Amino acid sequence: MKAAVLEKINAPLTVADVGLGDLAVGQVLVKILVSGICGTQLHEIAGNRNNAKFTPHLLGHEGCGIVENLGAGVTKVKKGDKVVIHWRKGDGIEADFPTYVFRGKTIRSGKSTTFSEYSIVSENRITPVPREVPNDFCALLGCGLSTALGTVLNEARVRSGESVMVVGLGGLGACLIKAALSAGASPIIGVDVFEDKKDIVASLHGNLFINAARENISEATQRELGIKDIDVIFDASGNARSITDTIPLLGNGGRYVLVGFVKPGESIEIKNPNHLFGVSDGKTIRATQGGGFLPSKDIPRYVKLFKAGSLDIDNLITHRTTLDNINDAIQMMRQGKANRIMIDFENQ
Ligand SMILES: [Zn+2]
Repeated sequence: MKAAVLEKINAPLTVADVGLGDLAVGQVLVKILVSGICGTQLHEIAGNRNNAKFTPHLLGHEGCGIVENLGAGVTKVKKGDKVVIHWRKGDGIEADFPTYVFRGKTIRSGKSTTFSEYSIVSENRITPVPREVPNDFCALLGCGLSTALGTVLNEARVRSGESVMVVGLGGLGACLIKAALSAGASPIIGVDVFEDKKDIVASLHGNLFINAARENISEATQRELGIKDIDVIFDASGNARSITDTIPLLGNGGRYVLVGFVKPGESIEIKNPNHLFGVSDGKTIRATQGGGFLPSKDIPRYVKLFKAGSLDIDNLITHRTTLDNINDAIQMMRQGKANRIMIDFENQ
């Protein structure tokens, strides 16, 4: 079967024929229908996740597929079930690391991967979903959308009428805007350094786009919206400088949540820490823990919301690609030209 392999750090992925190892206890073989490409994989390709020692290895952690075969002990799903593949742990067996054969050698992968026609996944990294729920929606429940909803609702506890700023408008940033909108946040401000992202903010019903490469974020917010402080700021850029620049915008009771992974070795600075004093409700800076996303509990809930029409993925996916063209898609993401890109395994 075909898979995209991270052979060397900072090099294009190798799309090659990879053999499947035997299914161990608690492992499930899934035929992948669609997979998202997440910012985490860009960090893995750059070796920022302390992952160089695992190369060559397989990638991807949000997908939708069909169960093809079961290892011993698996009870959560049966052959033919449609499943979400997620990186957070849900119910079920925590199986061993899967094995694959690449260039005649046995390699291991993470407990869930999706950049391959078939993946061996640990039982606790899949959750069954009804057949009629669209594949793209299911795939985004694996990481981007679920992380965003959990971050906005569980971690930042955004309340209706609170102002929200999202810095870094890649796939996850766009999901955060959607989640903030569903929580009733207003106004919603999107910040990026690529002017193309202005249209994304508008399509997701955000109120203001600020190009941080051209404008001072604080001045633009005051001029356009007449507000000085922001209630909740999500940083999905992982850019140390923009984090440093936006922390001082937090208002009384404000919550700052780091969602994007910061490059190892970089530091953020709290300028004028005294602005953290003198407010009655305090201010909080924290890093997300995957939005506190609990797959076994949250995925069925989000599916229910989708069926009821109160949750959608409209305008989150900007491009589709094939596994053969995955490196071009990754390059588009790096250049800020895309939001979520889906690898479509049904139309290769
Ligand atoms: Zn992800």
